Amino acid sequence: MTTVRPADTYRHQGLRKLLVQKIKQKGITDQQVLAAMEAVPRHYFFDSSFLEYAYEDKPFPIGAGQTISQPYTVAFQTELLSIRKNEKVLEIGTGSGYQACILAEMGAKVFTIERQKTLFDRTSKFLSVVGYPTIKTFFGDGYKGLKAFAPFDKMIVTAAAPYIPDALLEQLKPGGILVIPVGANDVQTMTTITKNSDGTFEKKEFGAFRFVPMLEDKAKET
Ligand code: SAH
Repeated sequence: MTTVRPADTYRHQGLRKLLVQKIKQKGITDQQVLAAMEAVPRHYFFDSSFLEYAYEDKPFPIGAGQTISQPYTVAFQTELLSIRKNEKVLEIGTGSGYQACILAEMGAKVFTIERQKTLFDRTSKFLSVVGYPTIKTFFGDGYKGLKAFAPFDKMIVTAAAPYIPDALLEQLKPGGILVIPVGANDVQTMTTITKNSDGTFEKKEFGAFRFVPMLEDKAKET
């Protein structure tokens, strides 16, 4: 990750097209998701010495023991969200900011929370540099949600949640969707929770994924 916007060359654009084709072959059909993934340069979120890894369908370390999710996983979670323009979306686990940019590219109003101060500081500055200044970043504990800006149309958790936090369910609009990988061990089950208009919830499960853990409370600000 750099402090200036890197170039987006024809080569990068070509590699991105190939990556999107691969994701399509793996079963992602939402055209808006595919278009956003083709539009957002994933190599912006990599250190210049690792650019060659940016267009592989793999997760990658981003520092502070965290990772940028695998492109297929980003596409899968985003597809489950069924984003419509101007929806208010809360992301837990800002990380590199890549997922937040995909959501913003699709026209969502994005609020994103990160518990690691170093990552929070770096990514908050970086989002303007890469052209997504409207994404609102927050340093905090995602288990608590973001009460001051609730309710949200959609919510996405990008870390492994040992359980579904009540605060997130409370801060979801009726008709809203929460996408969350649930599981305390090595593997999580991708889960969606839809809030019905009468306040009841519907749960669906979508197979196994691997995420870094969702940790309680903020990290120390050192
Ligand atoms: N969405 C990111 C990937 C995030 S990796 C991207 O596109 O790059 C998961 C992130 O969740 C890490 O940065 C980790 O620090 C953060 N995280 C873990 N527990 C959290 C919590 N309770 N609240 C907020 N962020 C959390």
